[in-house]
Parts: sequence; C-alpha cells; structure tokens
Amino acid sequence: MARTFFVGGNFKMNGSKESIKTIVENLNSSKLPANVEVVLCPPAPYLAYTAELNKQKTVQVGAQNSYTKESGAYTGEISPVEVKDCGAEWVILGHSERRGIFHESDEFVADKVAFAIEKGLKVILCIGESIDEKKAGSTLDVCERELAAVVKAVKKDDWQHIVVAYEPIWAIGTGLAATAADAQDIHSKIRDYLKSELGELADSVRILYGGSANGKNAPDFRDKPDVDGFLVGGASLKPEFVSIITSRE
Ligand code: PEP
Repeated sequence: MARTFFVGGNFKMNGSKESIKTIVENLNSSKLPANVEVVLCPPAPYLAYTAELNKQKTVQVGAQNSYTKESGAYTGEISPVEVKDCGAEWVILGHSERRGIFHESDEFVADKVAFAIEKGLKVILCIGESIDEKKAGSTLDVCERELAAVVKAVKKDDWQHIVVAYEPIWAIGTGLAATAADAQDIHSKIRDYLKSELGELADSVRILYGGSANGKNAPDFRDKPDVDGFLVGGASLKPEFVSIITSRE
C-alpha cells in the first residue's frame, strides 16, 4: 500500500513574524517534491500569517491544539472552526507536552480528535512512551492505550483523517533519536494494533516518527516500510527542514 510521505513541522511556542517569514519563504523558494505532504504548525497567533505567506501547493498549515467546543466562554482555548477560518487544515493533538505539562488525559485527547474531525480538520495524533515506560518494557502498552481511547471516540472512517505520530518522549528535543530499526519495529506493531481494530483501513494510516529527527538522520529511515514520514520540532525551524522533506528522493 503506497502511503504519501508526510512531514510535519511543529514550531511549538517559537516564532515571530520575522522568523516565520524566513521559514516559509525558504520553503517557497525550494524545489519540493510533488509527492510529499508538508504541514507547518506555527503557534496559533501566526496561523493565518503562515497560510497567507505559503505559496507551495504541497504545503499546508496546522494548529498545535484545538478544544472540544466550537465557540463560547472558554477563555484561551482554540476552536477547530477558528483554526479552519485561519486557513489551516490540520491540528496536532496529544503531543506529549500537552499530555504532560497540561495534564491532558487519553480521553480528553480522544474527544478533541473526534471534535476536530467533526469540524473538518485533519489530525496529527501524537503517541509515545516516557523513558521510564521504555525501561519498564511498556512502550507498546502505552501506545495502544493512547490509541485505544481514540479508537473508542471516533468512527472507523474518521481514521482516513488521522496521521499517527510515534514520538518517544525521551527522544523529543534531546538529540537522541530512536534508531530507524527501532522505529520500524514499533511502527509495525502500532500498525498491527490498528489492523486489529480497523481492519485493512490500517494499511492506509500514515505513521510518522518524531523525536530529534533532522536533516542528517532522516535518510536512515528511508527503507523502513512503516515509517511514513516525520513530525519535526527543532529542525523544522531551520533550513535543514527542506532536507527532511526531500529525504526520500
Ligand atoms: C516534537 O516536539 O514534536 C518533536 C519531534 O521535537 P524535536 O524534533 O525537537 O525532537
């Protein structure tokens, strides 16, 4: 099953008009492969700005969070409808920084996924274990638990709007990326789990690797059949982001 290679850039809470203009203009002037889907996820105040600057057909924009309500008295929250109105089509949900720092439960993440899809967004769903969970041998249990909450909350068909990002927490921002072989191993088990829940639809769900991916290590993953792309934090802010996008060429 051919799955379109996908590269997401999670800017986290980094950015200014100037730095985002530099990033987007660098992409605009680059020769990007026609068969790679790229999604830039700037901080929410810059969603519309990023969408307006972007001139590449294969580049889309995504938010880093959205809430379970369309509008109302939810000070500080972000509606998926507002995200769409700003020209974005995607949202990252379940990032470990949201789960950890902001205490988002599996069920809350799953509700956000269901509502974002209901309102027409596509979702980059992040899952992954901490270093203690890895040492305890519970990597797959954690991933399956996080996925199970979403399986319960959304319709089977909704999975065509979900991209899964396997992001081991110990690899995020540490410079210690998982090896390509280890990523392939867990990705194939994640796909097996999805197959047990979704049947053959699981073959079309893209599973990205995230955690210290960069221009140098991205090519190591190129022959791994279940690594369908990357979710990139730090390196998405740098010119090397283009090398990650072109790493399958
Ligand atoms: C992330 O935060 O989603 C991420 C993968 O970060 P980094 O690439 O910086 O490890």
